[in-house]
Amino acid sequence: QLDWQGKRVTVAGLGVSGIPAARVLHGLGAVVTVVNDGDDERSRAQAAELEAVGITVRLGDGATLPPGTELIVTAPGWKPDKPLFLAAEAAGVEIWGDVELAWRLRGPDAAPWLAVTGTNGKTTTVRMLASILEAAGLRTAAVGNIGVSLLDAVLGDEEYDVLAVELSSYQLHWAPSLRAHSAAVLNLAPDHLDWHGSMDAYAADKGRIYEGNRIACVYNAADKATEDLVREADVEEGCRAIGFTLGTPGPSQLGVVDDLLVDRAFVADRQKNAQELAQVSDVQPPAPHNVANALAAAALARAFGVEPKAVREGLRAFRPDPHRIELVEEIQGVTYVDDSKATNTHAAEASLAAYDPIVWIAGGLAKGATFDELVQGSAKRLRGVVLIGQDRALIAEALARHAPEVPVVDLDRTDTGAMSAAVREAAALARPGDTVLLAPACASMDMFANYNKRGEAFADAVRALAATGDA
Ligand code: ADP
Repeated sequence: QLDWQGKRVTVAGLGVSGIPAARVLHGLGAVVTVVNDGDDERSRAQAAELEAVGITVRLGDGATLPPGTELIVTAPGWKPDKPLFLAAEAAGVEIWGDVELAWRLRGPDAAPWLAVTGTNGKTTTVRMLASILEAAGLRTAAVGNIGVSLLDAVLGDEEYDVLAVELSSYQLHWAPSLRAHSAAVLNLAPDHLDWHGSMDAYAADKGRIYEGNRIACVYNAADKATEDLVREADVEEGCRAIGFTLGTPGPSQLGVVDDLLVDRAFVADRQKNAQELAQVSDVQPPAPHNVANALAAAALARAFGVEPKAVREGLRAFRPDPHRIELVEEIQGVTYVDDSKATNTHAAEASLAAYDPIVWIAGGLAKGATFDELVQGSAKRLRGVVLIGQDRALIAEALARHAPEVPVVDLDRTDTGAMSAAVREAAALARPGDTVLLAPACASMDMFANYNKRGEAFADAVRALAATGDA
């Protein structure tokens, strides 16, 4: 156990992870200073609450290392090249993220962690996994990047048998000593490269999820980069590499045979070489990428000893979260689908592959991505494109290169009202039988607080169009 009494800890960031971290550390006897870049009304109110219990808060100065700092606990999103961290490294001060803090305080003792990362499908897979674990009668919490603080789960009063943990690449970057029971990397495609600096650095941070795994490292057999990460990881003796595939599974894999999800990795009965888990139609929605998510969830559950029956029941009970390929309305034969959660090109590719013909609404913050491959892959299915948001020119240029015949409406707007205009333009381009698909392939923060708000703006505009004929 660490001795926190009098330890000088700097918490970087007043936010969903920083505030609980500051309170917990203060409660353990540490001398806590919170530093925050912003100094607005909201942060002042939050600071006042922390100061009332004796925590020091410095607003508008997230760059300077408070003198005497012995440890930094950072919000996951803070970039490693920030001056605060460079100063900390120069001074030999350790930097932990919120996940590292939860792990060090009580991680291994609270409950085994079944951890999930990947460029896309994390939240869906963690929810499926939690649903399966619950169907097996296990006391389960879905936590982490999914919006539930790991600190709360690990230190709270409730007891759990197992945690289904979603981890972002940022959280993994700042969690060097995490050791999961089993973990999965669902897929790897360029995302957040501006933060990590390079694809290699991004992959390496994702790969940390396998370090020290005890039972299984689950990889995507269709994505060699995930398998490479398993090979590079330092795991406990006896820990197995388990693949998932949409094809026929090999030994030590889960896959699909006819209409069935099948497990060839954890077969208890030596007479059999495969175990049926569920029907493909038990997975909602049964799109290929989502069946892959279900297989990954099943693999982690099976690694934890869950029976096939609970896998089936858990998948049947699962319902997707909003803004993930969500059907909004059908208006005059045109289907309107909200995939606002497609915040990068890899996710948008999955939903663009699911429809034909498509009027595509895209744009936002590109986060360093390029759009050539995405546009090339979907050009044939595009009826038209409506572009919004800050980095829309990047998509317009890719369209001009690879789909010059596709009509493009470039809205040149970043105000929130732009979404109504985009829906109106899309409706004008669409013909009966088409799908109008919001799959921005970009982050939302140039126009909206988050992807939820963006999806709601889209759905509101579509419903207005349905009600009055005008978005
Ligand atoms: P994450 O938590 O990783 O952001 P979500 O489950 O919230 O993942 O899904 C994010 C987006 O990625 C959604 O738009 C969804 O359509 C798409 N998606 C989900 N699973 C996959 C997958 N396995 N491969 C590619 N895209 C996916």
